[in-house]
Amino acid sequence: MKAIIYEGPEKVTVKNVPEPEVKPGEVLVQISYAGICGTDLNIYAGTHPRAKAPLIPGHEFSGVTMTDCSRFPKGTRVAGYPLLSCGHCDPCKTGNEHVCDTLGLLGIDCDGAMTEYIPVAEEKLVKLPDAMSDKLGAFVEPVAVTVHALRENNFVPGAKTAVFGCGTIGLATALTLRIFGAQEVTMFETDGSRATFARTMGFEVFNPIGLNMEKFAREKTDGAGFDWVFDCAGVQPVANVLIDVVKVKGHIVIIAGYKKPAELPLIKGMFKEISIGFTRVYRYKDFDIAANIMQREPDYEKIITNLLPLDEAKKGFDLLTTPGTGAIKVMFKI
Ligand SMILES: [Zn+2]
Ligand SMILES: [Zn+2]
Repeated sequence: MKAIIYEGPEKVTVKNVPEPEVKPGEVLVQISYAGICGTDLNIYAGTHPRAKAPLIPGHEFSGVTMTDCSRFPKGTRVAGYPLLSCGHCDPCKTGNEHVCDTLGLLGIDCDGAMTEYIPVAEEKLVKLPDAMSDKLGAFVEPVAVTVHALRENNFVPGAKTAVFGCGTIGLATALTLRIFGAQEVTMFETDGSRATFARTMGFEVFNPIGLNMEKFAREKTDGAGFDWVFDCAGVQPVANVLIDVVKVKGHIVIIAGYKKPAELPLIKGMFKEISIGFTRVYRYKDFDIAANIMQREPDYEKIITNLLPLDEAKKGFDLLTTPGTGAIKVMFKI
């Protein structure tokens, strides 16, 4: 079968490799679509601490089951829950397998989905609703991140919200907030083309550079500041203003993975008595919820900007690492 192989920093090739061995309890899935995630870009750059070449990347995927299993018949359209938890550490034993002490992922700690077939543990398959396209099926994973961010932090409907960053996760967070009943979603983005793109989904988007953010946030919210603020950017200039835009007793959720240590003006947080929450990946339940609510919001599909065949592996990664391409979510159609 054909597979994209990460061979070292900025080196991906497409090769023929043997079909994977299917262990007891696993089901072979024929991949339909596989997306490139920010994590895959870290792998491609050679900066991911765990990914070791040679590796087939890919943890965002949809496909079709090749054999019957106890849950579904052969031919069922599925997405795969890609987390690998140890099962015996304290988080695993207390119902928090998604923050396992040694959490691994398909496509990082073992071969992933940028290929034709992958074995997936039966209990990690998520059946796609009949009306959902295979393409959108490969987008359940990033949406599950946003569903988890809201559920795990006890998001309250009716809130006035702000989202920093109009990349895949920022846009998906904003759309999930719509489904979860946010009263308003205001977005912040410094990249003009990304801001324009977010506006096509009906969001108000502002460039924070040069704005007095505290004043702006108060004006935008009848004086109080935002109830909930979501950081999907993960850069210092955003960390500087998160507490300025949130209201007294408000909530900040850090969804972004900060690549460098950041400073936060914590004294401001003390004065406002705010809470700051963090979120990592998703529970199986979040994944299942994501698959089942996504059809209510047709704009999710717009985030998938580019589809390529497996043979154009390098082009896929280049689209996301070259400024100005307009690419947001790039997927391989397999
Ligand atoms: Zn991902
Ligand atoms: Zn564990």
